[in-house]
Amino acid sequence: MIIVLKHDITPAQKEETREFLERHGYKVREIVGEQDTILGAVGLVQMDFREVEILPGVDRVIPISKPYKLASRELKSEDTIVRIGGVRIGGGRLAVVAGPCAVESREQMREAAATVREAGGVVLRGGAFKPRTSPYSFQGLGEEGLKILRETGDEFGLPVVSEIVGTESVEVCRDYLDVLQIGARNMQNFELLKRVGALGKPVILKRGLSATIEEWLMAAEYLMAHGTDDVILCERGIRTFETYTRNTLDLSAIPVVKKLSHLPVIVDPSHGTGIRAKVSPMALAAVAAGADGLMVEVHPHPDQALSDGPQSLYPEQFERLMRDIEAIAPVLEKELQRIPNGAVNLTTGPKDASTAGSRTEGPAGEAAEGAERGGTVAFQGMRGAFSETAVHRFFGEDYDALPCDSFEDVFKDVLNGRVPYGAVPIENSLAGTVHEVLDLLLQYPDIIVVGEQKVRIIHSLMAVEGATIDSLAKVYSHPQGLAQCSRFFDEHPSIERVPFFDTAGAVAHIADLKDPSLGAIAGREAAKVYNVSVLQEGIENNPRNYTRFFIIARVETPPIHSPNRAALTFSTLDKPGALFSVLKVLADHGLNMKKLESRPILGKPWNYMFFVAVDLPEKREILDEAVEAIKKTAGDVRQLGLYYSHGN
Ligand code: PEP
Ligand code: MN
Repeated sequence: MIIVLKHDITPAQKEETREFLERHGYKVREIVGEQDTILGAVGLVQMDFREVEILPGVDRVIPISKPYKLASRELKSEDTIVRIGGVRIGGGRLAVVAGPCAVESREQMREAAATVREAGGVVLRGGAFKPRTSPYSFQGLGEEGLKILRETGDEFGLPVVSEIVGTESVEVCRDYLDVLQIGARNMQNFELLKRVGALGKPVILKRGLSATIEEWLMAAEYLMAHGTDDVILCERGIRTFETYTRNTLDLSAIPVVKKLSHLPVIVDPSHGTGIRAKVSPMALAAVAAGADGLMVEVHPHPDQALSDGPQSLYPEQFERLMRDIEAIAPVLEKELQRIPNGAVNLTTGPKDASTAGSRTEGPAGEAAEGAERGGTVAFQGMRGAFSETAVHRFFGEDYDALPCDSFEDVFKDVLNGRVPYGAVPIENSLAGTVHEVLDLLLQYPDIIVVGEQKVRIIHSLMAVEGATIDSLAKVYSHPQGLAQCSRFFDEHPSIERVPFFDTAGAVAHIADLKDPSLGAIAGREAAKVYNVSVLQEGIENNPRNYTRFFIIARVETPPIHSPNRAALTFSTLDKPGALFSVLKVLADHGLNMKKLESRPILGKPWNYMFFVAVDLPEKREILDEAVEAIKKTAGDVRQLGLYYSHGN
């Protein structure tokens, strides 16, 4: 603390003040200025500063250290990620908790859960004990409500949250719920905070109606000091003089709290505004302001709701809101959390993981012999694309490849669990890194790299049955494909090059037109898919044309083969030698670097993220040690995966 002394303080009073502070364990330094004299007192002590303020000769005291410790960023600089089953909240993700204000009936909850699940919510809410302002309002169904909530959550594969209003229901809430909610009215019910904290379960802590940010963080400190690390702060509006909204939603609290604390912050625009029409705009604003998620009230029939109907969204409004959030997530470089649909089990990973995990050597194409039929792997492009070749080289022919329109669709299909794996190009030996894929890896923290496959890009000239090179007047391909075969065109000046959006797409096009004067350049696999003939193979100028593909999966997926590579990303501080100090850590640990690439960080001009791939050392601990050491010199270190690199 800083103690500002009165101008007329006597030397004896000053000495007494100094002694008082030292007796309480502070180190004290005096600074004498032209106008004022101050004492600076530092120490690991918690003291009521008013005791100093009332000493004779003291003008005022300015506390400098924060009263909360466990919740503070000073103690823990990385974002806390709260896990609720397979759902993660915090650290670059957007998670939406949704459901009705109160559990009213089984039918109502089932309808609500279907909407929440379908639209992309990841936690189901519903109050069983309702803290109503009026004793005559619906008070909730109590334990019966918890039971309905639990059963509905299980049926729809959604974890559940409900509010606990008193210490007498700690056990019953613990037994039925995945997350306990402390409501705004109970934020400073310290006995309740202690008991709930001691359960060690995740808690959503709402900000009190008239609580300062510091009081809110102190309430989180209570929960943490008593035994849970998993606190999610929820801004839900505070009481102001304004009457046009139920509360005033304090969105400025988000960046403030995110700086002070490592805990995730979500926003409840339903209680924050109290009016349905205001919920979606404020929800989007909260996301834009940096919230890690939302808690939204949605009811299948808001006009019949027993509680908070006027602020509950209709199902269509909720669906629309979710689509809007999905549209803005990439701008904020955030991943919208998803509950995987079927193909992926949140605790064990992809369905075929046990078979895949047991293969310890070689590419799946060889090792998969005799194994059960595999799964589906998403790729970008049309059938017959080089990405599809990568899928079959890595996994073997037993895996189906699913074509997608864009790289982002591949990421989304993997995240949603539509498919257990995806294959995306990361680098071409002639054209360089595929930056879009690298950026997606940075944007999707729940996607990891589990494999790598190198494919030689051999361009083949193909045309419909009966065509010859001499009959060709036009040849279609992707501009890159045409450029990589320029020598062939120089030798055949009468053939016109026609750019097409996709190599395999060009083959599909000529197969469709059945015209012997039209050719296409693509990988050989496309000829099989579209039933055309290969006129000449290997027409590319440079035979050293390779593309490396990453095999991606959800974060909980076990490695497919024994990993031999590791990929990391990190950001560097804006100071001399920042990158060097990280590379030095890699060198000091004997880690052989296979790739280093920088990417500008969106919204932070001249700040960079780096992507590194290294050979995995025999002793894994060396990598862990290196990662710990990098954390000390760089920010945001993340392991993108340990993977098996085949053919590199
Ligand atoms: C609720 O979430 O249903 C609720 C009562 O919220 P709050 O405690 O924020 O008023
Ligand atoms: Mn409510």
